[in-house]
Amino acid sequence: MKFGAYLYEAEKAAGFDFHVLRVKLETGNRIPPVQDMYSNIAIFADNAAIRSHPDWISQSPLGPARMGNNNFNIYWSVVCATQPEHRAEQLDYIEDVDRHSLGVWLNSQYFADHSHCTCPRCKELWKKSGLNWFEWRRKEVTDYIAQIRMRVKKELVMCIQPDPVTACERYGVDFNDLAEYADAFNVVMFSKSYATPWYWEMLTRGFKKLLKKPVYISLYVYGPGDTAKDVPSASELLSVSVRCARAGIDGILYLANGASQIRDFQKAAVDKIELRKTLEGYGGKHVKEVLDRVKNWEKIVE
Ligand SMILES: [Zn+2]
Repeated sequence: MKFGAYLYEAEKAAGFDFHVLRVKLETGNRIPPVQDMYSNIAIFADNAAIRSHPDWISQSPLGPARMGNNNFNIYWSVVCATQPEHRAEQLDYIEDVDRHSLGVWLNSQYFADHSHCTCPRCKELWKKSGLNWFEWRRKEVTDYIAQIRMRVKKELVMCIQPDPVTACERYGVDFNDLAEYADAFNVVMFSKSYATPWYWEMLTRGFKKLLKKPVYISLYVYGPGDTAKDVPSASELLSVSVRCARAGIDGILYLANGASQIRDFQKAAVDKIELRKTLEGYGGKHVKEVLDRVKNWEKIVE
């Protein structure tokens, strides 16, 4: 089992096996990749692209994929997943980022949500394909991932939404299709509270059963602009880590703005002596690996 730090800033955190840097955010903001970190790229969620090209926005009968359209869980503006200029620019960008880092972790590499996209181009492409709506969307996503695979020479990881059942209907994502091209999956399980770990454990078990490549999960520690009141407690994070580890996952990533927030989390986790003792009873090889890792952090946070 591996442990990763998932960061907005390029400074590495001690005590992790690897680091993933958010080089292109859903805002469209980009920072340079770093040679010894993986690079996380949001492809179609891209506020900046929509600001420059308002007509690129993904369309649906329930309105466009614009931040504030509460018909969908959309927190950014999302480009139509068949937009040819955006696709081409992102392919070149992904290739360049791969060359200057350890590899690429993709998110937002699919349709905005259910019933997207009904722009004139998508309607035309769908009609021409002769496929049903869901098959056509799936093919669009999978074909684009195949093109990305041709450009990425190093590791390619697919970040996916924590929806194990309706990913195809909502996003055009077929897990088996993506597994053909992906080196691993990362199930994004960001939440500002992990008060009920049972649900996260259940999701993890579901994904571990479904996905035909190694499965990482990502947990939320401390995002940009957060205060201590906004974020999950160290106890919740420790408990949910152990519960998901028990489901047999291959790795956990912890998302934080920078290395200092990760260090604060490590220190708080180390200090939970009683809880760490209780969690030892949760059993299983992977549980021990989480608790051993926290033990290992004792040296770092002193
Ligand atoms: Zn479209």
